Amino acid sequence: MPISKFEADLHCHTIASDGELSPEEVVELAHEVGLKALAITDHDTIGSLARAAQKAKQAGLYLLPGIEINTDGEGKEVHILGYGLDENNYYLKQKLQELREKRIDRVKQILHKLRKLGLEISFQQVITVARGDSVGRPHIAQAMVEYGLAPSFKEAFTKYLKIGAPAYVPREKITPVLAINIIRQAGGVAVLAHPGSNISQQEIVQWKKEGLQGIEVSHPDHSPQQTEEYRIIAKKLNLIATGGSDYHGPSIKPEVKLGQWGTGLETIEIIEKAKIK
Ligand code: AMP
Ligand code: ZN
Ligand code: FE
Ligand code: FE
Repeated sequence: MPISKFEADLHCHTIASDGELSPEEVVELAHEVGLKALAITDHDTIGSLARAAQKAKQAGLYLLPGIEINTDGEGKEVHILGYGLDENNYYLKQKLQELREKRIDRVKQILHKLRKLGLEISFQQVITVARGDSVGRPHIAQAMVEYGLAPSFKEAFTKYLKIGAPAYVPREKITPVLAINIIRQAGGVAVLAHPGSNISQQEIVQWKKEGLQGIEVSHPDHSPQQTEEYRIIAKKLNLIATGGSDYHGPSIKPEVKLGQWGTGLETIEIIEKAKIK
């Protein structure tokens, strides 16, 4: 792994959601590449944070508790990152539990559709692939490859799992504003993930009115121009500019390496201050 370009990488995934590495392995890797701070932001779960915190303490790495909540905007997916939240917050734990239960229902519905298409994968097989507590389409795609029902992860999505494909099942809707509220009432700071994929400035302005505190500026999906553009927008709207690699592991998007996208340590201080407000 190349040496980190940044002091802090505030976006990555572990086996608790759809990442490949354990919480300990991600922290160890962060330490190896020279990061000083890391936020683990698993989809809809904080299940990896306690283990990661223990490892981070040993390694002398600052671990910012994080999450990435997948929500539905107007006809598109919107991901909201949460930083510095209270992991013991009752409402947060309850809401995340609900989201994960809905994920399980949805996976079962997708498997049912696949079965009708003649592709037999059991729920148990998907769970075995998933290992963590937040299951989703990536695990189904992985299981399909493992059991020879699709030639590649990408093709499993394109042929069967993506929006509009024959085995697609829409998610139970949760809005970006609900995700912002869940994060904030747990004492966290709410940040819009990778806005470059499909978000307008108008939407950012609206969500800011509803509690959004930052936007992710440095991200592998952003071109250098977009990164610059979002940095300017963050400044103009007085939003915290964050950054991270969205690292999922060595095989998922191999070109994405931990620490090659991120931010400086001062961003952590700004986030910590924003928490108290
Ligand atoms: P889920 O939360 O179960 O809906 O799965 C969403 C995740 O699937 C996203 O975070 C992506 O990592 C992955 N994903 C979505 N669409 C595609 C696609 N067309 N090709 C590959 N991966 C995808
Ligand atoms: Zn993911
Ligand atoms: Fe995301
Ligand atoms: Fe992510």
